[in-house]
Order: sequence, then structure tokens, then C-alpha cells
Amino acid sequence: MSLWFDPAELLIGGVWRTAAAGTLPVEDPSTGEAFAAIARGGAAEIEAAVAAAQAARAGDWGALAPAERGRLLSRLGRMVEDRADDLARLEARDVGKPLRQARADALALARYLEFYGGAADKVTGETIPYLPGYTVFTLREPHGVTGHIVPWNYPMQIIGRSVGAALAMGNACVLKPAEQASLTALAFARLAAEVLPPGALNLVPGLGAEAGAALAAHPGVQHLSFTGSVATGAAVQAAAARNVVPVTLELGGKSPQLVFADADLDAALPQLVGPGIQNAGQTCSAAARILVERAIYPEVVARMAGVYRGLVAGPALADRDLGPLISARQKAVVEGYLARAGGLRVAARGQIAADAPAGGHYVAPVLLADVPPDHVLAQEEIFGPVQVVMPFADEAEAIRLANGTPYGLVAGVWTRDGARQLRLARALRAGQVFLNSYGAGGGVELPFGGVGRSGHGREKGFEALMGFSALKTVAARHG
Ligand code: NAD
Repeated sequence: MSLWFDPAELLIGGVWRTAAAGTLPVEDPSTGEAFAAIARGGAAEIEAAVAAAQAARAGDWGALAPAERGRLLSRLGRMVEDRADDLARLEARDVGKPLRQARADALALARYLEFYGGAADKVTGETIPYLPGYTVFTLREPHGVTGHIVPWNYPMQIIGRSVGAALAMGNACVLKPAEQASLTALAFARLAAEVLPPGALNLVPGLGAEAGAALAAHPGVQHLSFTGSVATGAAVQAAAARNVVPVTLELGGKSPQLVFADADLDAALPQLVGPGIQNAGQTCSAAARILVERAIYPEVVARMAGVYRGLVAGPALADRDLGPLISARQKAVVEGYLARAGGLRVAARGQIAADAPAGGHYVAPVLLADVPPDHVLAQEEIFGPVQVVMPFADEAEAIRLANGTPYGLVAGVWTRDGARQLRLARALRAGQVFLNSYGAGGGVELPFGGVGRSGHGREKGFEALMGFSALKTVAARHG
């Protein structure tokens, strides 16, 4: 694959340069073959990137009017949209996701930039009635330098929602993409460097233990945004605590969908399966658990099984239902979970396409039924194409099961009963609840984040701008 940029360079202060430690290989998960190399950034490059971000804040970037910042982000969004096909092919190759899913990610990145570009000059403070002789008002100010540690499953979407919002508020960013999937971050930074002042966005690819840890621990960073595993998120939060800086953590989940006997099953069915196997199940908000009222349990399992039997995993560019997993390591994790499924009922399995290269990291999707709620496969995030289904007797049990994991990211509810919809919207422990839908088409406008082990802080929507800024109260005594 010929790239339209040099992937072995990183961006610091508007200058493309190489890393002192050399490069890391880039693997195509569809074939298992290396096809490029990215920079192996480390502590020295993070140091330089933070300094460049500080200089940008003190210089041209910090001096821009909010409307002008917004205009630059909107222009960048249009550039991303114009390159959506290129970005999609790059992402498909790098992450292994089917081409149309990769294209949707590219368009989502463009849409985030459009949304946050439009929002940049619309964040206002307030005046607060106070004692006689005082006028009190609030100012929303950027934190300064923000660090963004991004995982491999949705690089473009996560860059859009975190970097887009941080830039809109006037922060200068240091972005550390995942070592398994840095190419679209690099392509995005090429476009950004044409539009933004030097140092507003700095990009340092590299390993988590090197570039990632250096960024999390750097005392010159005033806010950290992390998406990924619970263990790494906790390490990032511990590093941030030493510098007493705020952290936004998005750590995945074990999200349920609840299907009641009065649900519109024809509408529900594609939404029960699709969000479970999208991106081969490597989605933080994957619909990992399907809870079904007993009266319709056999029918729902049978209908989901019918869909599963038609699912095909194949090379990303062949654009089938799902692609391979990101790496041999991730495949081993998923197979490790499946090895613990002994005794569970396999309701159905999908297939691996005949043309899938032997070196690719394919796992056939699996639907497991009658899974006990406390089973490890019903409790832990598998991050692969595996869904578990279990029955419930009534609304109280449905809520207990839905809330019965340490996670709380997203939940879906399928029922025609309006009062029940509202009761469940309140009772479910989750950052987002969808009624008679799941995901609602992505929703750039919709605040997103978790409770419990799913993390804290909110990205997406207008709310993200609050997280990427600090509130200052000004109290003037004038008599
Ligand atoms: P990870 O959390 O270790 O990696 C995510 C990001 O953090 C990457 O950019 C990585 O380089 C960086 N990182 C790793 N160690 C770091 C450290 N010590 N300090 C700072 N940054 C560091 O995830 P992984 O190992 O690639 O995947 C493991 C599991 O995490 C998966 O099986 C899955 O369950 C989960 N995961 C969740 C999400 C999500 O969207 N919530 C995304 C990716 C992975």
C-alpha cells in the first residue's frame, strides 16, 4: 500500500521528525504481515511535544479568537471529509475493520470537527447574583496543555471527540495514538498541520509503556484524556494524581440490552446483534449482554442465532460483516475466554470466509445462550465477537441483572410501555440509556462516558467542552 505521507515521522511544534529510538512495525491484522513502520516516540519526544504545546499556548494558537479557532477546526473537518475514502482504506488496513465501518469513522471524525468548530465561540460564562456591592461572573478557560492517549479500536472517532473538543476550548494537544493503530492519527495530523498554528496539535506515536507513560506522568500536562483498558486507565490516573491534574477515563464495559415481551422484535433484532459484533466486538460500548424476558426468550435466541449463522468474518478490504481482531494477542485473549465457555450453550456461530488469509487474526462470532449472570463471560469485557444471552423473569430482575457488573457505560431497553421506559432510564447504571434503539447512530452531539469501572468524565456533545476547560469565578467589589 503506498502511503501519501511518511508514517515513520512524528509531529512536534509543526515540524515532522524521526524518533531517537527508531521505529515500530505496523501489521495488517487481515494478513498478519508488516507493511509499514511508525516512529517509536519516547520520553524525549514527549518532552519536546509538551514544550511545543506550551509555546503554542503562549503564542499564535493561544492568541486566536474563539471564532477563528472554530473556523480552523471546521476547515479541518472539511479536509477530513474530502479524504474520507483514503482515511477509510488506511484504517481498514491498519485496524482490520471492514471498509464501510472505517469510512463511517472517517466521517465521524469530520463531523466532530464540524460540531466542535461550531461550538468554539458558544461557550459562555454566567453572572451570579451575590452580595450588594459585588458583581460576580465566571470565565471558561482552557486547561493549557492536554494529553490524549487513544486506543486502537476507533482511532479516528476518539481523536475527533477528545482532540476536537480540547482544541475548540483553546488547549494545545499532545496526542499518543495506540502502537497497533497510528496511521490515521498520522494522516489526520498531516491535514491538521496544514491548518493549525505550529504546536497546537503534536503527535507522538510509540509504545504505551514508553511514550504513553511519559505523557501521563509529565508535569507540564494539565489534563489527560484516556480511552482503553481498566488497568492502564488506573495507571494513567495514578500518574496524573502525582501532578494533581484531572483525568477523563473511558474504560469500556459489559453493556446490556433488555428486551421485554412487548418489544417490537423486528426493530430490535438488527440492533441486538449489530452493536455486538461491530468492529469484531472490539467496541467499548458493545452490546455484550442480551437480557430477554422469559416469555419471548426462546424466540429471541432463535432469531439471533439465525442472524449469527449468516455472519462472515473476512479481510477488511473485502468489507464483510466483521474483520479480524487487531492482533494475535487480542485473538489469544478472546480464545482464552471462549476456552472457559465449557458447559455453556453455543446457540450459533458465524463463519470465517474461505479467502481469509491464514496469518490474519480471525475469530468466528459466537452467540452463547443461558449464560449464568455470575459467569466470567457474563461479567468481564471480552472485546471480541461474543455475545451472551440470558433470561429474566420480571422488571426487577432485569434491572438487577443489567446493573450486576462492575461496569456502567451504555444500556438499551426494548419495550412499548412508556412508563417502564422511564423507570428503566432512571434505574439503569450507565452513562447512556437508549430506549427502543442502541447507539442512536453514534451521536456526536450526545454526552458519553461511564460510571463505575467504565470510567468517569464525559466526552462528546457540548458537555465535553466543560471537561476540557476550567471555570474561573471573578468577584468584583465595587461598592
Ligand atoms: P491499553 O489500555 O493498554 O492501551 C490503550 C492506550 O494506552 C494505547 O495508546 C497504549 O499505548 C496506551 N498505554 C498502554 N500502557 C500505558 C501506560 N502505562 N501509560 C500510558 N499509556 C499507556 O489497551 P490494550 O492493551 O491495547 O488492550 C487491552 C484491553 O483493553 C482489551 O482487551 C480491551 O478489553 C481493553 N480496551 C478497551 C478499549 C475501550 O474503548 N474502552 C479500547 C482498547 C482496549
